[in-house]
Amino acid sequence: MDKRWAQTEQIRQLRSREHGRPLPVGRQSLAMLYPASYRVGMASLGFQWIAHQLAESGLGVERAFLPDDRWGPDSGSVRSMESEKPLGDFPLIAATVAWELELDALVRMLESSGIPALRAERGPEHPAVLLGGPLTFSNPRPLGAIADAVLVGEADATAAPAALAFFAAGRPEWLDAVQALPGGWIPGRSAAPPEPARAADALLPARARLWSPDADFRDMFLVEAERGCSRGCAFCVMRRGPAQTMRLFEPARVLAAIPAEAPRVGLVGAAVSDHPQLLGMLEALIAGGKGVGVSSLRADRVARQPRLAELLRRSGYQTLTIAADAPSERLRAAIHKDIRAEHLLACAALAREHRFERVKLYTIIGLPDEGDEDVAELVELVRAMAAIHPIDLAVSPFVPKQRTPLAQAPFAGIKAVESRLAVLKKSLRGVAGLRPTSARWAWVEAELAAGDEATGEAAVRAVRAGGKFSAWKRALAGRG
Ligand code: SF4
Repeated sequence: MDKRWAQTEQIRQLRSREHGRPLPVGRQSLAMLYPASYRVGMASLGFQWIAHQLAESGLGVERAFLPDDRWGPDSGSVRSMESEKPLGDFPLIAATVAWELELDALVRMLESSGIPALRAERGPEHPAVLLGGPLTFSNPRPLGAIADAVLVGEADATAAPAALAFFAAGRPEWLDAVQALPGGWIPGRSAAPPEPARAADALLPARARLWSPDADFRDMFLVEAERGCSRGCAFCVMRRGPAQTMRLFEPARVLAAIPAEAPRVGLVGAAVSDHPQLLGMLEALIAGGKGVGVSSLRADRVARQPRLAELLRRSGYQTLTIAADAPSERLRAAIHKDIRAEHLLACAALAREHRFERVKLYTIIGLPDEGDEDVAELVELVRAMAAIHPIDLAVSPFVPKQRTPLAQAPFAGIKAVESRLAVLKKSLRGVAGLRPTSARWAWVEAELAAGDEATGEAAVRAVRAGGKFSAWKRALAGRG
């Protein structure tokens, strides 16, 4: 099958299965790109919310996602979901980048559409590129090699003015207008990004516009129940800070944002289970005949409110997902993650009581000062949990992020992480499922997380050289 035709066919199929309010196509339209598959991008409330804000400002907004593998690298330009137009036909491309490794797909989407990913290689004949998203809260500098303009921090109030200014002015005036916005950064003019912007509460909560059976959260209308976190886990970009506090949204405001016809509702936030009225919101939604989902669960909150597990199971949850975030009690205390083994064991017992299929437990390894005894404690804990209920252990290597207390801590190293993973694999064989994140790609993520514009240039070179780990290693080693 012709690959271009396959792409268009799939776009039509995906679009025909969507519900909600379609995005408008207009004379002044921009492409809104998510550098991952449709499945992942449509499960991003931030992406959907910014697309909605742009549409409400009167602009045409056309989504674009990373095509499926079967479209292949030679399938030509990425096309928009709304009018199936090639990316290169839009004058402005906006993209939201959630984390470092999404740079790979961002570069691939631009370059397969004939748009040089490096800002320095684009001319007035190419679209302008405006970037933003969760990555900008920690380290937006590598984006500086790609973007004409960046919106650092919360873009709820700045995305629409930035896009409107593009269509109202020539490019130099547009850059002036973005630079004047809170969080507006023009990398060609300054190497130092500004502080992240913070949106006014009156604009919130963020809510989606569309839902789809093909998104990660199947047929789920997403709405924000809270923003940020009041806790202080030392590795986490979402932790509280001087300008970053937790914003709780009134249940009435959250519930009022939900369309009557939405079959399922996902309550989103970095720490949703810390919302004091979460149970009431879930009960109201379930009483109204809706399925529910919650984007983040803390094990201590689940352990102290057993009704939470009961409601989620009634609503169709099959997996109870919780995080330990460090292999031992000692390290959890060191990183201020106030979760104890007793909370995790209580969650396993609740999963058994309410007949969840399994528990999924997240942890980080390779933390500063971690020793063999910490990993041995994790093995014992997982064995104890598995004796209560089936468990999968998802393991991510620690990656230091800027703007956190552990920003200067070292990445443990590929060999050290791989040897820890080998111990876990051997010790937990037949006990629990192990879902490790690659140590090599965690190293790439760590390089990008600490990097600058030259690192962004290296990312583009790595993707051009094929995007395999060896290409990234060479490109990162060759930075200026
Ligand atoms: S890991 Fe979770 S609880 Fe800790 S600061 Fe981040 S969002 Fe909050």
